[in-house]
Amino acid sequence: MRPELVERCELLANHTTLRVGGPAREMITIDTEAELVETVRTLDARGEPLLILGGGPNLLIGDAGFDGTVIKIATRAVDEDTAACSGAVVTVSAGEPWDPLVGYAIEREWSGLEAMSGIPGLVGATPIQNVGAYGAEVSELISTVRTFDRSTGQIKTLFPIECGFGYRTSRFKSDPGRFLVLSVTFQLRLGSMSQPIRYLELARALGIEVGQRAPASEVRQAVLALRTAKGMLLVEDDHDTWSAGSFFTNPLISFAKARTLPPEAPRFHQSDGMIKTSAAWLIERAGFGKGFGNGAARLSSKHTLALTNRGGATAADLVSLARQIRAGVQAKFGIELVPEPVLVGCEL
Ligand SMILES: Cc1cc2nc3c(=O)[nH]c(=O)nc-3n(C[C@H](O)[C@H](O)[C@H](O)COP(=O)(O)OP(=O)(O)OC[C@H]3O[C@@H](n4cnc5c(N)ncnc54)[C@H](O)[C@@H]3O)c2cc1C
Repeated sequence: MRPELVERCELLANHTTLRVGGPAREMITIDTEAELVETVRTLDARGEPLLILGGGPNLLIGDAGFDGTVIKIATRAVDEDTAACSGAVVTVSAGEPWDPLVGYAIEREWSGLEAMSGIPGLVGATPIQNVGAYGAEVSELISTVRTFDRSTGQIKTLFPIECGFGYRTSRFKSDPGRFLVLSVTFQLRLGSMSQPIRYLELARALGIEVGQRAPASEVRQAVLALRTAKGMLLVEDDHDTWSAGSFFTNPLISFAKARTLPPEAPRFHQSDGMIKTSAAWLIERAGFGKGFGNGAARLSSKHTLALTNRGGATAADLVSLARQIRAGVQAKFGIELVPEPVLVGCEL
């Protein structure tokens, strides 16, 4: 471990998009895969608590910080193979930023990522919660995930069937900390047109029907515009974007439960018979409108699903707001909201 890479007592608020989180005992930024694996192996052998950090947009870290070592992933490489008859096979290191990859794919005429434009964070975290937006999910495009399995000390390449992908979840999320994602291989179709658009709001913005395609570059622009309007695109001085994106996942409920909701409640039928409803709708109808809150932790003024830091909020403020909203939705609709970000050193 190179001592020059180690920082002591670095404030984690400087590394999360919510801008909260106390100090890390140590933080190491690592930019090669070999060093990453070796460092994790060594620290695991010592029994040192570890937190893997990407870009920090999906983390709520407590005010006491992290009493252990934080490893900040900074490995960069994109290897492409377009000779394969199956399209573009693109292997991307965990530390590559996601959104520039989406832009690059569109430039290279690799189709499939466009609807996921503007999602903050790094490539290595995309399989963790199976990131998705506007009807697309990253799991549909992943062919393998190369990992370091901390339980066996071995490098292991996982195929999608082994990754347990589901809506905003995966084996990596349900067995937290076991797998360090080293790189992700995507299989993308060749062409300048997008994949069929599945999301009504996006189709409308593009002036097409759901199921039709559009130039991928236009899809990217439309998604970025929709995200900007909702405060879901990071903008340094816009407090509506000092968030973890959607704070709660959209609940998956039974058909019987869905019948107890008012007729106008959104209902999206899933292939397994469950019904997905809208967390934002439930929050609003439970009485928590845009901007709700009275301190530095408030709902975004653009979207009820984002808990935001208006400047000076603590993790405790955000947890207290999240608890209030979760309890209000539970009391009104009997549905328990589940947080989407990973909570470290705090709980709801
Ligand atoms: C404004 C905004 C909008 C957002 N919009 C969306 C959206 O539309 N769709 C969506 O799905 N998400 C969205 N998010 C959430 C977030 O962008 C994603 O979850 C993203 O993939 C997190 O990436 P990261 O690399 O920064 O991970 P971090 O936030 O740093 O970490 C998240 C978790 O992944 C773990 N982790 C990170 N990298 C690795 C690795 N290489 N190996 C093992 N574990 C790792 C961390 O330990 C942590 O548990 C949004 C967030 C914000 C702030």
